[in-house]
Amino acid sequence: MSIIADYLLHALFWGVIFNFPLLFIIIKLKLLTVPGGIITGATIAIMMYMISPFLWCALLLFFLSSSMISKQTSPQKQLVTAEFSKDSTRDAIQVLSNSLPALTFGILFLVVDFFPKVEKNGNFSFFSLSALMFAAFATIATHNSDTWMTEIGINTNSIPRLITNLKKEVSKGTSGGVTIKGTCAGLLGSMVISFVYLVYVILNSNLEVMRIFSQWVLLILVGTVGGLTDSLEGATIQGLYYCDHCMKVTERSTHRCGNSTKFLKGYRFVTNDLVNTSSAFISGILAIIGYISIEILL
Ligand SMILES: [Zn+2]
Repeated sequence: MSIIADYLLHALFWGVIFNFPLLFIIIKLKLLTVPGGIITGATIAIMMYMISPFLWCALLLFFLSSSMISKQTSPQKQLVTAEFSKDSTRDAIQVLSNSLPALTFGILFLVVDFFPKVEKNGNFSFFSLSALMFAAFATIATHNSDTWMTEIGINTNSIPRLITNLKKEVSKGTSGGVTIKGTCAGLLGSMVISFVYLVYVILNSNLEVMRIFSQWVLLILVGTVGGLTDSLEGATIQGLYYCDHCMKVTERSTHRCGNSTKFLKGYRFVTNDLVNTSSAFISGILAIIGYISIEILL
């Protein structure tokens, strides 16, 4: 059997073993919809493990921490949830849009970097560094940054301002609304994911301290910029609708009340999920550019 097939079989075996108990926790806590969210989530989790156990850890950390934060309810949050029809149980499309960018960069990493190294060396090490792996981490840092920014932003008392016009105050939960506290939370969210990358790089151990530190800081920043890109897209191109019945702005073409809404601004095809996915791809590309710049400069 070829060494690559051998690797994939081993990774698949351990991926299934490690993810199996998690499924029960996720079903018990109602973090994913049944069966769509669960089936999609399990498939993605096993694939992510096969790409790298560290990337899998990062995705898990994002998923569990953001689900926990989303489940927290405060009086302010309940109001916004009712107004904007946000639901904290993720469906298949949300799971996919939250992991497609990481999967894309991760699979590219396997094909372009990892498999050629495995074939050349005749064995595999989990610590194969490359700009593509770095980009995969950046996309997860972006999702986490965005979620923490939004969820913690909603829970504070500060009034959000529009990212494209900071003088303009908007109501809570408005796409494109930002607060200082929310942005700090986004930075923290990106930092949490970047810690997993830091461990991954330190265990790799043949990099000098300066390079490790630069990559780590870059990842935190790129993740936060990704989170802010999400807000920027929300303020500019995301499709927004208006419900005459409730007199509320919403992201949905059919409001929770059952009324079909009037198109207000943006592009109809730019949904919240597309905004999440595209901002993560943008941060992944920025991460690659930054990673290569560090390689050249240091
Ligand atoms: Zn309505």
